[in-house]
Amino acid sequence: MLAAALLRGGGVIFSPGGGTHHGLADRAAGFCYLNDPVLALLAFRAQGLRRILYIDIDAHHCDGVEIALTGAPDVRMISIHEARRWPFTGGFADRAGGAALNLPVDRGFNDSEFAVLRDRVILPAIERLKPEVIVLQCGADAVEEDPLARLSLSNNAHFDMVRALKDATPRLLVLGGGGYNPWTVGRLWAGVWGVLNGYDTPRTLAPESQSILAALHWTRRRGAVAPHI
Ligand SMILES: [Zn+2]
Repeated sequence: MLAAALLRGGGVIFSPGGGTHHGLADRAAGFCYLNDPVLALLAFRAQGLRRILYIDIDAHHCDGVEIALTGAPDVRMISIHEARRWPFTGGFADRAGGAALNLPVDRGFNDSEFAVLRDRVILPAIERLKPEVIVLQCGADAVEEDPLARLSLSNNAHFDMVRALKDATPRLLVLGGGGYNPWTVGRLWAGVWGVLNGYDTPRTLAPESQSILAALHWTRRRGAVAPHI
């Protein structure tokens, strides 16, 4: 809500502590207490904005956001999430009264497949809608090393999405979201901060960085350290 107030005149805000997209109106759900994306979307609406776009690339479907804004004439929600994974909502045929486009994807969904959805679905939708604001939920659990999901994106998929959205709207609010491998989360959201601030990010980690990550230990780690950033 503060981000919405600060973005009144335009700009970009990154709130990695946000993105709790499973919270419901009367109860907590899915590690989410308050649904801050919904509060932000409603705050933008209260400012009089009428072309509001919510994009969610967390591995899980944004059920709390969809429930809150089903049928909304002024908010469009696009979610890419892993099919057949909790909370088991967000099927392709579920359009939330015309407000949502759900894109469930299979296990192993990778960067090039993500790029197809970005370039053929999401960016054309932005062209048509010309949103006054975009809220991006940038959950870190869709990347390769996350233990809770089985998608296979690299951080580059998220960075490229952030880069594409940065110039596509006068107001951009980037939120965090899920993420259950501590160093994956740190890498991703630090990199998002870098992209938003115009830093070049390497597509592949330097060998020294790879060896630092390879030396980390964590009981719920899945697989080897990905060589891409
Ligand atoms: Zn998630």
